[in-house]
This record gives sequence, structure tokens and C-alpha cells, in this order.
Amino acid sequence: MPYGRAGSPRPEDRDGPRDECGVFGIYAPGHEVSRLSYFALYALQHRGQESAGIAAADRGGNIMTRRELGLVSQVFSENDLRTLRGELAIGHVRYSTTGSNAWENSQPVQRSEGTNGSSRELALAHNGNMINAVELHEELSERGVTFSSTSDSEIVAALIATHPAERIEDAIADVLPRLNGAFSIVVMTKDRVVAFRDPHGLRPLAIGVLPPTDGAGRAESASGEETIGGRDGDEGPGEEVEGGEPPRYCVASESCAFDIIGATFVRDVEPGEVVTLGAQGLQSRRVMPDARKSFCVFEYIYFARPDSRMNGQVLQVARGRMGEILARESPAEADLVIPVPDSGNAAARGFARASGLPQDDGFVKNRYVARTFIQPGQELRKHGLRLKFNPLPEVVGGKRLVVVDDSIVRGNTTRQIVQMLRDAGATEVHMRISAPPIKHPCHYGIDMSTREEMIAHERSVEEIAEELGCDSLAYLSLDGVYEAVGATRATHCDACFTGEYPVKGSDGAQGKYALEIA
Ligand code: SF4
Repeated sequence: MPYGRAGSPRPEDRDGPRDECGVFGIYAPGHEVSRLSYFALYALQHRGQESAGIAAADRGGNIMTRRELGLVSQVFSENDLRTLRGELAIGHVRYSTTGSNAWENSQPVQRSEGTNGSSRELALAHNGNMINAVELHEELSERGVTFSSTSDSEIVAALIATHPAERIEDAIADVLPRLNGAFSIVVMTKDRVVAFRDPHGLRPLAIGVLPPTDGAGRAESASGEETIGGRDGDEGPGEEVEGGEPPRYCVASESCAFDIIGATFVRDVEPGEVVTLGAQGLQSRRVMPDARKSFCVFEYIYFARPDSRMNGQVLQVARGRMGEILARESPAEADLVIPVPDSGNAAARGFARASGLPQDDGFVKNRYVARTFIQPGQELRKHGLRLKFNPLPEVVGGKRLVVVDDSIVRGNTTRQIVQMLRDAGATEVHMRISAPPIKHPCHYGIDMSTREEMIAHERSVEEIAEELGCDSLAYLSLDGVYEAVGATRATHCDACFTGEYPVKGSDGAQGKYALEIA
């Protein structure tokens, strides 16, 4: 049950696209599952800084949830982790994509058996955004189902919790085709963790395997098989698998969560796939396998941590290649390449490598800025971004600079960066962006401002350069992005650049406050 409440932190003051959410799930008797969840969420913190939560359960016991506004390190105490005992757990870090930043909208959400029309107890954590949340909410409300939040995640939890099917996998297989939008979801009952991805595979979700405990199961490759790590069939909770303990699995939004807990990346959950982590090891079932794959291309460019692996790529390397291709496509007469830290670091290195220009740090970044909850006040406000970036006049003074960043949304931050560099003595500022211009909002779980707020909306690149006050501006082409990640448009979403939305009904989507407006 949820408990505790603290003051709401001020969201990080940034101009770029807002991160979305991170999810984690683990089934691992014999391991400290809540502690492993804590550190996995710690690794996923970049995906959401507004709230964090963990739900844990003993097989057959009660589900206990701790969730709170704030960063992972602020939300959980040692005592919380001792209280959240169990053999299976799920976790969540949140940046609000549907519903405002209120405690009620933090996750995991929990539905209890026998209340609000629920026939099973479960906890659920969700990354993504449901386009048809309002219709589903209306339908459930008409059936007498009640809600305690304005998040679309509780709607999915309610659909599954109230479903009459005996097995949760059957309930999910029936509910999944009714969900329209982007979702990577982990659900926990008292005896298993079930994870599933939308049929387009818009948001990431990866499977990892834990190292065996002393003398126990093996960590074998899990790709492709129907049942891995145990015998096929319907073993009940607590039954031993013949031949010893099966491998213990976990799922996470990004593979960087596996590294921190000593787990090994196995493979991604496939679009439309439902995987069960339980006494049988790992089981898989495909629902709607024929939908067009549309993985978010912006994960490669910006959202995911550089040490995560997606599409077989370590993103740090892919981002370096974006910088190299950017240098090839849009070279600049300059003396020095500097990144906007940290978002432009990898691409700046790539740009410098390919152009043969020297590279240095033109800014020092305050790495703890996300933890500042005190408003700067009138006297300090005029210094604006200096709270976050401080330019180094000794490095940039008298130089023609190439300044590399990964994206521009509204342009306020970039405009200030250009001015700070000029004030620090730079003679020319050439902005190079390792993504195409962002012109369209995302309806799949990323908060990117409205179309009208975007600086690239109905402006040419020259006009944007003038707005930003830089000497030149160039963006990486979409072809260049796909070349860098070794992928094609056919299996990806790039709607924020092109306006071509892969999910039907996206144009009518109502944004993050849909359920509050309705
Ligand atoms: Fe990703 Fe952009 Fe598609 Fe949203 S619209 S899923 S950010 S590529």
C-alpha cells in the first residue's frame, strides 16, 4: 500500500525534450529484490526525476508499494528497502507524460483484489502514453470502476485487474489490442512479473539475466525460445524446477540498469510480446505480431543513457558517429569544437574526429543542478543558465567555435548559450545539432512543448540561426541519423521531425493533461 508524502521538488529547469519514464521488474527468489530495484532505478534516473517507486511481494504474500515525489536517492531509506522484502519487485521513475506532477500520479500503481471492481491484486509501472486514455477511462467509469489518479497507467492497471480471465497473461493478451499508443509496461502479481510492449515497440524494454546464486541456475542465452530456464507448463508458485533453480530474469527500460546490478543483457522484449518472469524462468507469448515496428529514433539521439545498448548499438558510439556524419554534411571554418555538456559530448567528439579540429570543454557544468530545489530569486535570475553552465573565457576567448548539441526544442537555452560564449570572447559561434529540426509534438510519452513553441516551427534554418544569434546553424539530416545507428525508417518512429505518426489516431491526441481536461 502507498504510504508517506513529502514536498514536491521543482522539476529540472531545461529547454530540451523532457525525459519520459523508466521501468524495472525482477523475479529473483534468493536475491534482495528491492535493493536491486533501487539501484536499477538509480541507473534509470535520467528518464524521470519527478517521482520514484518500488512495489515488492513474497510469492503468495501481499504486495507492498513505496512511492514518493523526488529522486530515487531521496525517496527510499535503508528502512524502506528492508520493509519492501520479497522475491519479486517492480520499480518506476517518472516524468509526467499524462497527468500532472502529483503524488497520486506516481507509480507503481496498485489495485487491490475486491476493491474498485478488481478481481486480482497487482502493481503496475508504465512508460509511454495512451492515446485512447479518455475513452477507456469513460468505459471503465461506466462500469463503476473508480480511480485515484489522472494517469493513464491506472487505466491499464484497472483494465487488467478487473479482467475475468484466470491467468494474468490471458487478461493482458485480451487488453493489449485495446490500448492505443506507446507503452512498455511491467505488472506484478503475488507470484510473477509480466512485461509487455506495444505492438509498434515505440518505447524500449530489455530483458536481463542475473548471475546465478551459489550453486544455483545457469545464465543461459534466452533469445528466441518459448520457455527459457525451466520446464514448459503451469508450475504453481513456489514449485521447484527439475534440475535446480532456473535463471532469474529482470526487465528494464534500458540495459544500463542491468550493468549496475550485475545482470547481463539478453535481448529486447519484442513489440507486442508478453513475457512472464516467474518460477518457470522466462516465458514468452506474441500478441499482434504484424504491426509496423516504430521504435523511437530519439532514444538513440537523446533520451537513453550513452552506456545503454539499443538496436545492437552502444549509444555513446552511435552518437559519436552522428557527430562524424554531421561534420561531413555541414563542416565549419573554425578553431575549436566544444560540446554543450553533457548532451552534446559524444557528438562533439565525433565532429572533432571527423573534421580534424581540436576539441575542448568550453563550459563547466554543475552536475548537481537537478538537485537544486531552492528558487534562484530575483538577484540571481538574471544570470540564468550560469546556474547550470559556466563558460571558460580562457578556452573560448578569441576563437571561432563549433558548438555541438543534440537537439533544440524552443531555443531559449541555445540562445543563452550563444550569448554566454560571445560574452566570454568567442569571435564566431557555429551551432551544429546532431538531430534534424524538431517541428512536431510527440504523442508517445515525450513532452516536447507545443508545435507553436518549437523554434523550428515554420522557420527556415537561416531564420532559426538569426533567432539564436549564431553565425551559422546546421542540423544532422534524418538519413544521417539512420546511417549513424545502422537502422532504417521502416522500423522506426521519427514523427517529431517529419510529422508522420505511426499510430492511428495520433493527430487527435490530447496531451499530458488529457484526463484532467476530460
Ligand atoms: Fe520518439 Fe519523436 Fe516518435 Fe516521440 S515522435 S516516439 S520522440 S521519434
